[in-house]
Amino acid sequence: MTAEALLLVTRACDFAARRHVEIRRKGLAGEPYVNHLAEVAVLLAEATHGQDALLLAAGFLHDTIEDTPTTYEELETLFGPEVAALVAEVTDDKRLPKMERKRLQIETAAGKSERARLIKIADKTSNVRALVTTPPVDWDMQRLLEYVDWAERVVAQCRGLNQILEREFDLSAAQARAAIAGQSA
Ligand code: ZN
Repeated sequence: MTAEALLLVTRACDFAARRHVEIRRKGLAGEPYVNHLAEVAVLLAEATHGQDALLLAAGFLHDTIEDTPTTYEELETLFGPEVAALVAEVTDDKRLPKMERKRLQIETAAGKSERARLIKIADKTSNVRALVTTPPVDWDMQRLLEYVDWAERVVAQCRGLNQILEREFDLSAAQARAAIAGQSA
């Protein structure tokens, strides 16, 4: 990685950690949200052999517009137009009802850029893994299964780009299904 690339990625990590400082993950353990962002960035780094700094920066920043008071313009100024555009591509429109946003994720994923689709797979992998390691307290079996189903449908639209990432998602989904089935037994 060049010096420029390292600067971009470490600055994105720092910015995302600060922006999400008040936010915790849904799961029982209430992990700091930055754990999710770091996990997504590592999944992307491993899947692309550390070759794509822009992708890693966007991985760290992927939830900033959606979940914090961060604007597109701010990301553009700090991290450049490509990173800002990539984050915007994976940002849900929060003005829409939740069910509609979930439906749109399935419907629009295939038309997104390659990098955006890689972020989608890494994001869903991290979220599905969390269902096993630290499930949300108020989710019953039905809701857990519905989430895995939905994640699989989004990822189905993102396939054909990166085998490492797809395999990691498939493994996580299979483990989640086994864990959910185990709970009900
Ligand atoms: Zn995310």
